[in-house]
Amino acid sequence: MELQHFSHNHPLIFNNDKQTNNHSIDETCCSACGENLSSTSPAGHYGCVECKYFLHKTCAELPNEINHFLHPQHPLTLIAEFNSYNYCNACTDLSDGFFYDCVKCNFCIHSTCSSLPRVRKFECHQHPITLHINPAEESSIGICQICNIKTTPSCVAYYCTDCNFAAHFLCVHEEI
Ligand SMILES: [Zn+2]
Ligand SMILES: [Zn+2]
Ligand SMILES: [Zn+2]
Ligand SMILES: [Zn+2]
Ligand SMILES: [Zn+2]
Ligand SMILES: [Zn+2]
Repeated sequence: MELQHFSHNHPLIFNNDKQTNNHSIDETCCSACGENLSSTSPAGHYGCVECKYFLHKTCAELPNEINHFLHPQHPLTLIAEFNSYNYCNACTDLSDGFFYDCVKCNFCIHSTCSSLPRVRKFECHQHPITLHINPAEESSIGICQICNIKTTPSCVAYYCTDCNFAAHFLCVHEEI
């Protein structure tokens, strides 16, 4: 099985083995999400062995365009290259990989971050918490309950607006 993926100049070959070019898939990382190749199910990856360029099957098959609740104004386009003008709006990390991007608004989010749930339960709080962008005008919602650092306007975090509960995206991510 061969795939011509927009992120690479050479065709990528499907591989479902535990080994890829003599490297264990536990030690080889996916260029889209940075996780090792053994980390997904269903198993399998696409790769260009010559360039040591590998993608999880699931990452290689990400849709080119999505609508995302963190940026409902415009559809987001999948890009394989990090734009220097931006960083991931959700986790604020600069690491590379695949992003969903809105060029018009300089809004950019890791493909991995884009798949996190909008609403989740969190053991430190009795209500479900919702992932959204800090509305700048609601200055009363601000302190992250996990690290005690103030969330900034436009900061992506989990909030319970009824209780003024806020928790940074990454803080929740690391706790769970
Ligand atoms: Zn991946
Ligand atoms: Zn190649
Ligand atoms: Zn991110
Ligand atoms: Zn936009
Ligand atoms: Zn925090
Ligand atoms: Zn609450």
